[in-house]
Amino acid sequence: MSFALPERGAPWSDIEPRMRELAKGDVKWRDGRTGMYIFNAGPEVEHVQKTAYAMFASENGLGPAAFPSLAQMEREVVAAGLSLLNAPPGAAGVMSSGGTDSIFLAVKTARDHARAKRGLNSGLNIVAPSSVHPAFDKACMVMDIEMRRIPVKGYLADPAAMEAAIDANTLMLVGSAPCFPFGLIDPIDELGAVAERRGVWLHVDACVGAYIAPFVRMNGAKLPAFDFAVPAVSSISGDLHKYGYASKGASTVLFRSETLKQFLEFDAGPWPLGRMITPTLAGTRPGGAIAAAWAVMQHLGVEGYRQKQGEVTQAREKIEAGVRKLGFEVLGKPQLGIVSFAHPKVDALRVYAQMHHRGWFTAALVDPRALHLMLSPKHNEVAHEYLADLEASLGAVTDEQFASKYAG
Ligand SMILES: *Cc1c(COP(=O)(O)O)cnc(C)c1O
Repeated sequence: MSFALPERGAPWSDIEPRMRELAKGDVKWRDGRTGMYIFNAGPEVEHVQKTAYAMFASENGLGPAAFPSLAQMEREVVAAGLSLLNAPPGAAGVMSSGGTDSIFLAVKTARDHARAKRGLNSGLNIVAPSSVHPAFDKACMVMDIEMRRIPVKGYLADPAAMEAAIDANTLMLVGSAPCFPFGLIDPIDELGAVAERRGVWLHVDACVGAYIAPFVRMNGAKLPAFDFAVPAVSSISGDLHKYGYASKGASTVLFRSETLKQFLEFDAGPWPLGRMITPTLAGTRPGGAIAAAWAVMQHLGVEGYRQKQGEVTQAREKIEAGVRKLGFEVLGKPQLGIVSFAHPKVDALRVYAQMHHRGWFTAALVDPRALHLMLSPKHNEVAHEYLADLEASLGAVTDEQFASKYAG
């Protein structure tokens, strides 16, 4: 009888080199040629993140009485998020494992709130722009809610079209700050006016914006109101493992008041241990992810975040200027760390393939066909390399197109 598990165990000294060997096939993100999945704030932040994670990798956030350390770190991380996002006194939140998790929790909270306060029980729907993250569709699948994706206008949420899609069973209105495909901040104040008029919960998905936008604004950019400063915003999702530069597995979901947050709690009992009440869907909660998020916040502070996010802004401005020179059109007016651009004459997906061939691991859009970059501080150092390769890639695709046009 043989098992997939090795018959005999091995010491770490044997295992570590094997893992390094395995990692050889992975993208070399530390060189800055990766524009998705990774937020690269440099080796010092990586060191803080990993050391803090390891210190609390065995501890469990499910037990705040056993681990008051983790409870305190979570409280402080949440408080930082609330204050960065203009939350009023009495606002509340929790840490979750990621953006999808935070979005699920916000939808669940809004649903239970609507059940209690509006008597809504079945046939519920969510009205969101077509650019919103698929995590909302997933939450709808699980909670038997209809997802209404409304086409964007000029790449932004269209408040009038969204209002027209609202009915008596609309649970939630969603805007992104920014949306992932185009990196643009939806008109949250206009959505707020709609939400107020129609008595609907407004959620802002700031998964990829919550921990960059406040610092970009402090650095002098004029950003539209997108957070709790808009009175109708009931909840916000903001990922720490994106522009918070925390280890993976860390996000926040924040609520305007403790009263709203109470609808998040899961009270699932009884069972032989009595009654299980948890603040989120999770049972076991990774101590490492909480500790790493807290430690990176202590390490960077406001000054450090302003510096890092300033580098992201510089990288984005260099890229925008460079791609325009090459004849690309930037989609909308990005203000944070994501930029997408299309070409009026050349198929962006063919350029994408060329860039991939040159070692750039990034995303692309299929509707419209465009190149997509999610920038990190590191990209400020390599923006010129990206643009040089983009010029070469564009040349190669133009040659191909020319050749095929005159081939026969
Ligand atoms: C990343 C992202 C999500 C999902 O977050 P995960 O941590 O990948 O689950 C949701 N919304 C937006 C706008 C995002 O950028």
